[in-house]
Amino acid sequence: MDVLQNHFDVIVIGSGPGGEGSSIKLAKAGKSVAIVENNALVGGGCTHWGTIPSKTLIHVVNQFSEHKKSRLLSQIFPQAKVSCAELMGVVHDVVIQQVRDREGFYTRNNVEVIMGFARFVDPHTLEVSDDQGNQRQFTANYFVIATGSHPYRPDDVDFDNQRVLDSDTILQIQELPATLTVYGAGVIGCEYASAFKNLGVKVNLVNTRERLLEYLDEEISNALSYHMRDEQGIVIRQNEEYQRVEVNTDGVVLHLATGKIIKSDLLLWANGRTGNSAGMGLEALGIAVDHRGNIAVNESYQTVLPHIYAVGDIVGFPNLASAAYDQGRFAGTHIVEGTCDERLVRDIPTGIYTTPEISCLGGTERELTDQRVPYEVGHSFFRNLARGQITGHKAGMLKLLFHRETLEILGIHCFGHNAAEILHIGQAIMAQPAPNNTIKYFMNTTFNYPTMAEAYRVAALNGYNRL
Ligand SMILES: Cc1cc2nc3c(=O)[nH]c(=O)nc-3n(C[C@H](O)[C@H](O)[C@H](O)COP(=O)(O)OP(=O)(O)OC[C@H]3O[C@@H](n4cnc5c(N)ncnc54)[C@H](O)[C@@H]3O)c2cc1C
Repeated sequence: MDVLQNHFDVIVIGSGPGGEGSSIKLAKAGKSVAIVENNALVGGGCTHWGTIPSKTLIHVVNQFSEHKKSRLLSQIFPQAKVSCAELMGVVHDVVIQQVRDREGFYTRNNVEVIMGFARFVDPHTLEVSDDQGNQRQFTANYFVIATGSHPYRPDDVDFDNQRVLDSDTILQIQELPATLTVYGAGVIGCEYASAFKNLGVKVNLVNTRERLLEYLDEEISNALSYHMRDEQGIVIRQNEEYQRVEVNTDGVVLHLATGKIIKSDLLLWANGRTGNSAGMGLEALGIAVDHRGNIAVNESYQTVLPHIYAVGDIVGFPNLASAAYDQGRFAGTHIVEGTCDERLVRDIPTGIYTTPEISCLGGTERELTDQRVPYEVGHSFFRNLARGQITGHKAGMLKLLFHRETLEILGIHCFGHNAAEILHIGQAIMAQPAPNNTIKYFMNTTFNYPTMAEAYRVAALNGYNRL
């Protein structure tokens, strides 16, 4: 018997971080909310194919490789080996725990979860088709589209072959390859290249750009290249385009336009993503979709139809779970209150879980130079910190960029162990209004000793002494 109501104040489509952020915000504000999800379990691409499985895998792999590097542990357990099944078992446990938590959020907040694929029939009506072939219609005053994205697959690459993978299918491999080629050196490509190398796989990383993650501060991007190439032993090819992919019984051959040929057991295609907008009836409503499947929105996340919002990967940059969740909350706030705090939407930190880990916020040296901002730089190297020496995590650096006159922090750039956590200490000061955003905070504050947080004091003093 169908006990579902069919009209809601708001219907959210997609239960990733974007959909979760908006639906919970709206439910807590007293709205009647339904969330439609096409996958058998809630959580979105973030929980099932993206952030959660990749970060869990990277964490376990890092534990394993640290163990191997440790003088003490490698003597006690010299034969330590890990299988694909064991790795994926850990990933599965975390994914299921995340799903259960999220199911609990929806139940506790009275958000109706509707399973099936959502398609607009008219500006206020959705048709939801489930995998049994049933179709039901639901209406709402407002909608939030949070349908995420999937890996881009060019037509001339045979993804039906088991040797050719993308970031969704790499989680299904049964055994570790001896060699892996990663095509595309964005965040996902760099992270998986690092992780597989840490497992002892020989890795080729093919970058279509001139340097790794070009939008990063140059010193950080160069440090990443150095560590991946010289310390980890990943073979990096910069500024290359594929010509064709040839799959044989014993491997896969990547032919590059420059004539280079790269052979490996598996190929991971990590070159771009496409928004999940197909088949949703958007064009008929007048909501245009670009060549990447993305929807354009205004600063309040409204599409051309003001009662239909879109958040997360479906609106494109920055394609981060962290941003998607906040965007969802802001869209929810806009529906309830008619306003949206746009400053928070812009100041999004970057967290990249390569070896070494990278995290950044604010301007790079290049950007500040182009804008003619009078800045100074302060460095702290992890190898000189007592905590870095104790833990053995000596590769890394914190770099603060600050205004020469006002001393306000303009940029924080960090690489090394736990960089994604370390960044948030600086973010808390950088977010303060003038005159509280100042590197003097770090010079006049007593830090626990020994800690990695101390890097802020060292970097602040290093920069200040240069004025
Ligand atoms: C390998 C990898 C690693 C990543 N690592 C990080 C990281 O470390 N940190 C970070 O911040 N971000 C990371 N990301 C990015 C992050 O996962 C995404 O930015 C985030 O998941 C986007 O959230 P979303 O809510 O927009 O969409 P998603 O999480 O993709 O969820 C969308 C949901 O909508 C559903 N859906 C789609 N169409 C319909 C429809 N018509 N009807 C009903 N349901 C539908 C889908 O089934 C899906 O469940 C990573 C991504 C990948 C691929």
